[in-house]
Amino acid sequence: MSNIKLLGTGCPSPSYKRFGPSTLIQIGKKNYLFDAGSGVSQRLNQSNIKSSEVEALFITHMHSDHIIDIYQLYISGWHQGRIEPFKIIGPVGIREFFETQLQAFQEELEGRKNWEARPNKLGLDYVILEIDKNYTFSNDEVKITPFEVDHKPVDPAYGFKIEFSDKGEDKKIIISGDTRKSKKLIKESLNANALVHEVFVSLEFDNKRMTKETIKNVSDYHTNPNEVGEVAAEANVEKLILTHFVPPVFDKSKLKAVVSEKYKGELIIGEDLLNIEI
Ligand SMILES: [Zn+2]
Repeated sequence: MSNIKLLGTGCPSPSYKRFGPSTLIQIGKKNYLFDAGSGVSQRLNQSNIKSSEVEALFITHMHSDHIIDIYQLYISGWHQGRIEPFKIIGPVGIREFFETQLQAFQEELEGRKNWEARPNKLGLDYVILEIDKNYTFSNDEVKITPFEVDHKPVDPAYGFKIEFSDKGEDKKIIISGDTRKSKKLIKESLNANALVHEVFVSLEFDNKRMTKETIKNVSDYHTNPNEVGEVAAEANVEKLILTHFVPPVFDKSKLKAVVSEKYKGELIIGEDLLNIEI
């Protein structure tokens, strides 16, 4: 059995309905988490999964909306009894980011460790792998490989390809990360069972918050509804699952109509806590 659980389908703008970007892939009994957006441990809790039950955390890129709750995930997993080291797999820079957070909390954490005397001391150990596009994660059940997408000036930015076999059938799930329309992503997604893709819906101009250049630049390093339809059609994916909605509130039927002009397969407008069996 394999599932895609959308834990957070939002973006940096706060929304109580759409938490920060995080997607969980369950294969067999194992949980693979992609990005740690704001509220990820609460959404795991709503899904009856402990932070301590996450096999590994994969990070697509170093934007705050994707990494903001790494420390919370680390600590909540320890509180929930993790006995294995916390495992992070992500781009160059993730080690310094995480260790700087550890340093900022060092005094607090030392005090807590000494006072609370929890038995699972090893749960505070961690393993960080800074990867490049040649990395492969694999075990008996799954192979997970990163590929470069285009979210420049953020570089590197990765999408992930998750390949496994279910009752003798080969399956493939793609996570886009944040990207412009990407040829590389289309190639990697070819005939995938599911493509979980970001989308930039629109931004209303508000001169107190942004200039025309802000809107142009934000939209320019994401994928718009028309393009995401093209990507899914060109890659001939079985299911297109949209997530990372910018902004988090938008007209769903309009979005569906635009994407469906290009893509005729199964289109799912993601929601937090939506579970999709693959
Ligand atoms: Zn983002």
